[in-house]
Amino acid sequence: MARGSFNPFEMAQKQFDGVADTLGLDQPTRDLLRWPMREYHFNIPVRMDDGSVRVFRGFRSQHNDARGPCKGGIRFHPQETIDTVRALSMWMTWKCAVVDIPLGGGKGGVICDPHDLSEREQERLCRGWIRQVARNVGPLSDVPAPDVMTSPQHMLWMLDEFETIHGAKYPGFITGKPVGLGGSLGRTEATGYGVVYTIREALKELGIRPDDTVAAVQGFGNVAQYAIQLYTQLGGTVICVSCWDQAEQTSYTYRKKSGISLEELLAITDRYGGIDKGKAQDLGYERLPGDAWLAQDADILIPAALENQINAETAQKMSPRVKVIAEGANGPTTPDADVIIKDRGVFVIPDFLANAGGVTCSYFEQVQCNMNYFWTKDEVLGKLDQKMTSAFIAVSDLARKRKLFMRDAAYVISVSRVVDACRARGWV
Ligand code: NAD
Repeated sequence: MARGSFNPFEMAQKQFDGVADTLGLDQPTRDLLRWPMREYHFNIPVRMDDGSVRVFRGFRSQHNDARGPCKGGIRFHPQETIDTVRALSMWMTWKCAVVDIPLGGGKGGVICDPHDLSEREQERLCRGWIRQVARNVGPLSDVPAPDVMTSPQHMLWMLDEFETIHGAKYPGFITGKPVGLGGSLGRTEATGYGVVYTIREALKELGIRPDDTVAAVQGFGNVAQYAIQLYTQLGGTVICVSCWDQAEQTSYTYRKKSGISLEELLAITDRYGGIDKGKAQDLGYERLPGDAWLAQDADILIPAALENQINAETAQKMSPRVKVIAEGANGPTTPDADVIIKDRGVFVIPDFLANAGGVTCSYFEQVQCNMNYFWTKDEVLGKLDQKMTSAFIAVSDLARKRKLFMRDAAYVISVSRVVDACRARGWV
């Protein structure tokens, strides 16, 4: 979310401008790709349980669809802004291109706090969001999915409203649906597991064994939980997680130097990824300030919460032991922090590569829905591993050959693919 002076869209544009210079792009191509092709802003009136009406602000941004229908999540957040949605839609374009799936970039959001809404109010909000954009989204134009604070249940309400409006079944319209109702096995694990597939490959390249490594994680939601699960299965130790405390409106880091227990923490975590601080302390976890995760003595940092977490100021607190940063979140690292990180020689697995497992599995979900035939979990995760691994290898090969920072190499590959599609269509 854009907080204070931080603007994620300006950051996304700055990253794009850098790669546009590297690729020597002409002005029309830059103009086309620096901004979303289309965006929608709308009001969503919702009848509350007490009979009153509240009007929520909703957005959908379609950054680029030269390679296929737009694809991207819908976020519910009190600090949602159009610039966050624009940035995330642009990053989605690059993300789909870097893993080479035939989709473009989209993103949506609503300014709201689901903690304050009943189930029925959330359902009306989801249906209201669809009513505002039902003619501008669809399985062949723009396919939404869950993101921060939206769930499979939200997706199902949205699908139901879309199908009611259009009078037929369109299971490929939205992804992240519940399994058994058009969802794909493996989707819940996909983003977190995808992050770890790329960490595994990075460690291979650096000649480090996963069981010799320690990681510090920011966030304890969907991405973080499954990343921790697979990383610990590979033998790694997670020493802390940090998360948002809704009651105190601040974040805390929970640390156990001998290694956190995923099961133990899951049992005291709410569905928004918030840990019960009293119970955590009873279980022997130290409670530290929210940004302490970044300063831990760890080999791997996994930011898996929000954007703008590793910036010029916080990057200075990073331990010299850090060798790998695997960006589970979108936009966690700012361009000024990149300068410090590059200087220290830290291996960065950039967000739109590291967390592309979610959209890749969403694409698999769409494929399965369109065939009306569903794969086993092993099949889904096997195909996911292949896609993520080959994307990682392509980026790291280019980084090595052209002596590029990993983020720049990933940008060169994805922006080139999108530019080629725009040129082939005769747009620029
Ligand atoms: P989530 O809502 O399940 O979890 C978010 C977590 O971040 C929660 O534990 C919350 O407490 C924590 N958090 C929020 N503010 C914080 C703060 N200031 N400090 C520390 N922790 C904080 O969300 P998620 O689905 O796990 O997504 C996390 C990130 O990954 C987001 O940037 C999202 O865009 C990105 N992402 C998610 C997916 C996916 O499939 N879920 C895919 C790609 C990218």
